Formats: sequence, structure tokens, C-alpha cells
Amino acid sequence: MKLARIGGTENDGVCRLALTDEEIEARRLLITWADEIGLSVYTDDISNLFFCLEGTETDAPPVVTGSHIDSQPTGGKFDGAFGVVAGFEAIQAIQESGVVPTKPIEIVVWMNEEGSRFSPGMMGSEAFTGRRPMEQILEVKDVNGIRTVEALEKTLAMFPNIKRRSLGFPMTAFIEAHIEQGPILEELGVPVGVVTGIQGSRRFRVRVTGDEGHAGTLPMSDRKDALFSALEMIGAMRQAFDTDQVKFTTGLFQVSPNVPSVVPSNVLFSIDIRHPDGQTLKRLGNAISGLCEENRGPCAVEVMEIATSDSLEFPNEIRACISNSAQELGIENKPILSMAGHDARQLHYHCPTGMIFSPCEEGISHNEAENCEPSDLATVTRVLAVTLAKLAS
Ligand SMILES: [Zn+2]
Repeated sequence: MKLARIGGTENDGVCRLALTDEEIEARRLLITWADEIGLSVYTDDISNLFFCLEGTETDAPPVVTGSHIDSQPTGGKFDGAFGVVAGFEAIQAIQESGVVPTKPIEIVVWMNEEGSRFSPGMMGSEAFTGRRPMEQILEVKDVNGIRTVEALEKTLAMFPNIKRRSLGFPMTAFIEAHIEQGPILEELGVPVGVVTGIQGSRRFRVRVTGDEGHAGTLPMSDRKDALFSALEMIGAMRQAFDTDQVKFTTGLFQVSPNVPSVVPSNVLFSIDIRHPDGQTLKRLGNAISGLCEENRGPCAVEVMEIATSDSLEFPNEIRACISNSAQELGIENKPILSMAGHDARQLHYHCPTGMIFSPCEEGISHNEAENCEPSDLATVTRVLAVTLAKLAS
């Protein structure tokens, strides 16, 4: 709740965009917490933050937990922030239990997961794992034309005394605690979700080009109406993808010239398609170009794929470790697939990775009304603490 006050909105939500003054203030708060419990603090060239509890083997690759503290502009208190705060609570519990881990245990705060200021997001985890070139990340601009590199330098300059570490250092494991952002655990009445994997997505932009014309005089048969063609395409895709488990969204739609008495000459729209099975996702995504071509009518169409994330499965030994930890504590848990992307997606390609989900009220997230039961968050945090202690021993 204290962290949520930084960037708190009128409607009880959070607006804490990456590398802004609010996010810098939130970093300060976390650093004071780390100081209070004796953790060392590190950062890296992309301004990920690390808080480290030493193990008896100081050179061993750490067991890492954490998430992000940036939010959507009208975001909630728990998305990302919970995973970071849970890390602090888990480490403090381990300290108080008297257990001295063999390997270091660390909390990480990944920079810009949400991508609401600098898009696309997951910059910190992608730069760390080398899954996106640093040069490309640094040049991304926000809506005011500020480049990531400028905001990054400003943030790093605020913390001149924090030691810098190299990107991509080895980790024993990465475990991210997060709210589910969906309704399944709440419906099942189960407090802990052991995440099996993350469903993949493919993102496209479609540009339809026709011709402008007079709404009163141009005969219908002579028109190249880009809007009508775009609607045919979307209708055809909606029908083709109307099968189990497919998530198909057109969330961006721009018409031009967008005036009442002119036949629309240009449309740009987005496609976001997701499916838990990698092969199915591939097949569905590959059908998009053909469906657009078949339904373009008299207009021209260009289909561009702008991002692809494969569906992935977390390793069995990590899933078993989380679920055994819950069982030892007598806590009911169920396997669950993550429908949203997380930093854990990037870390999966770096070290053995897993996630633990907490229920959230009505599955509402990316919304100021996002809410969780404190007791559920505590339950997930207990499982996290035992999981971290096991992996670090
Ligand atoms: Zn998140």
C-alpha cells in the first residue's frame, strides 16, 4: 500500500510509468527497505535493480525472484508490484527463520515491463537476456519524443552510488510471483497457481488502401472503400478464428480521412492473436495474410507482422519445486497457464524459470480497480519463501 501511494491516482489506482519521477521515487523506497534488512543493492546498464541476500557460497549464481514496478497509465496496485514486495517479504522470512542459504537470493525489479511509456515493454528483461539488441531499445521514443536512452541516463544518474553489474550474469533460477490477471483461481477457490507456461502471441498491423471519393456522387460500384474492405477482413478472421481457446483482438483501428462525407481511403488496424499451443498459433497466424487478401475487394492490402512470442512451457523441476513447497505448507495449489506475457517469458531462455500466481478479484487487471485479498498474497508469499530457500540450498 505504501508503494501504491507513489503514483497513486484519484480512483485508487496507480500511474507509475517507467523511468519517470514516480518510478524513481518508488526505487528510492525499495532501496530504503533493502537497507533496513541488510541487502546489497546493484543496478545494470538498463537500470534493472537487484537486492541481494548473500549466501555462504558468495560466487554461486543467485536464485532470483521479482517482477516490475512500472504500471499502465490507469493501472492497479498489484500487477508487478506484488512480485517485488513478495520478494522482500520472502527474504525477510528466510532471514528470520535462521536459514542461511548456500546460494545468494536476490530480488530483481525489471525495467519497463508494461511498455506503456516506451513500447514495446519488457525492456529490462530483454536487454538482460540479450533477446533484443540494446541499440534498438535505447532509440525507442515516448509520446513526447524522449528517447529511452535519455530517460535511462537520468534515472541512473539519480543513483550514482549503486554498483553496476553486467547484463546477463548467470542465475540458478528465476521465480516470479504475480497476480493471475484472470478469473480462474478465484473461480476455483484455489489460493496458489503453479504456472505451467505462457501462451504465445502474434501481432500484426494491416494497412488497407483504397481511394477517396464524394459520398453523394461516386457510384457504389466504382468505389474503393478501405473501411468496407477492412470490415470484410475482420469479419472473415473472426469467423475463421471462432474456435476453442483462440484470443483474437483488433484493438487499434484508424480510418482516414475520417470525415462523414468522404469515402474512406485508408485504414490501419491491429491484430493480436493468442493460443496456448505453439503449432496452432503458428497455423492461425499464417492464415491471416490469405484471409486479408481474399477479402480485400477492390482495395490493396499490406499485412505486417510486428511481434511474435512463442508459447512456452516452464521446466517440470521448477513447477514441482513450487508445488511441493505449497504441499509442505498444506496449501492447495493448481497448475495454471499464463494468458498474459511476463518478464519470466524472457528469463525462461536464460535459466530455469517458473511463476506463482495469486487470485485477483474478478480477474480484473490493467485497471485502477485491480484488487487482491491480503491473505491470498500472504499465502503465495509463503510458498515463494519456501521455494526460494529450497532452490538456494
Ligand atoms: Zn505484470
